[in-house]
Amino acid sequence: LIQLFVPLNALGFVYREIRQSLVNVERLFALLGDKSAIEDAADAKTLSVGQGEVAFRDVHFSYRPDREILKGVSFTIPAGHTVAVVGASGAGKSTLARLLFRFFDVNSGSICIDGQDVRQITQDSLRTAIGVVPQDTVLFNDTIYNNLAYGRPSASEEEVHYAARQANLDEFIQSLPDGYSTKVGERGLKLSGGEKQRVAIARVLLKNPPILILDEATSSLDSISEQVILDALNEVSRQRTTLVIAHRLSTVRDADTILVMEQGAIVESGAHSELLEQNGYYARLWQQQQHNVDEPEQK
Ligand code: ATP
Repeated sequence: LIQLFVPLNALGFVYREIRQSLVNVERLFALLGDKSAIEDAADAKTLSVGQGEVAFRDVHFSYRPDREILKGVSFTIPAGHTVAVVGASGAGKSTLARLLFRFFDVNSGSICIDGQDVRQITQDSLRTAIGVVPQDTVLFNDTIYNNLAYGRPSASEEEVHYAARQANLDEFIQSLPDGYSTKVGERGLKLSGGEKQRVAIARVLLKNPPILILDEATSSLDSISEQVILDALNEVSRQRTTLVIAHRLSTVRDADTILVMEQGAIVESGAHSELLEQNGYYARLWQQQQHNVDEPEQK
């Protein structure tokens, strides 16, 4: 399938990109058949998700031996809660998501879902339990309907339309020349960043996983598009254990807990109002945002 839109010699590059950005990982991983990818333990069990609690315990991690990226990170996302991670570019936010998805293994410490260490469960069952709304969604050269149904190919037409409505995408699709049959992707209609993100949200709604990773888009959206996306994100994260990787502050305000990361460590944590009271790094970021019409990148 992937060969339909990338030349063979670009596969290595594409693989790295996928690994980096969490794009539609479940299937593309299998298709690319990378030998160096993490392997299941010989006695790996199927993940049994009860409530869906996610716990990082004293996690240390480095991509390369000479540079530690996570320096003892601990936090718990209680079942059904939303934890958002903010911090400067390069602080290690996306790395948390990559480790939860087990693209890499921790050097020490552990990551558990309902008490089961991700290294002890099959990757298939792990990735079935986790939905990802990536920064940039891959669209296939196919109809918008099939692009949505990719979230769960067995879904009925009614379910696909319902997911599109919940993702605030239905009205847009109805306005297209061929409605749900409109071709999108490289050789079809190009969707905007916000529309693509809503496709990802609809796919996750169809997949219906108990755990969710939202890797917030870095590009700015106008305030109307942003509100539409925020509404859709609220819909998708409701009742799911959610880890938000926030490159801007727009989605974090309503999170149950916000973790502030600096150079691989959590330096502040709490709800939005608590963090403002602490008057530390988060409060400075927030004030900075209030003074800018265009929200600045977190630096
Ligand atoms: P941003 O907000 O810019 O996306 P981030 O906080 O999500 O930043 P990470 O992507 O987690 O940051 O990266 C943390 C650090 O790890 C960075 O210094 C980055 O250069 C480094 N890093 C990320 N991926 C790799 C990799 N595959 N190999 C080596 N170093 C990496």
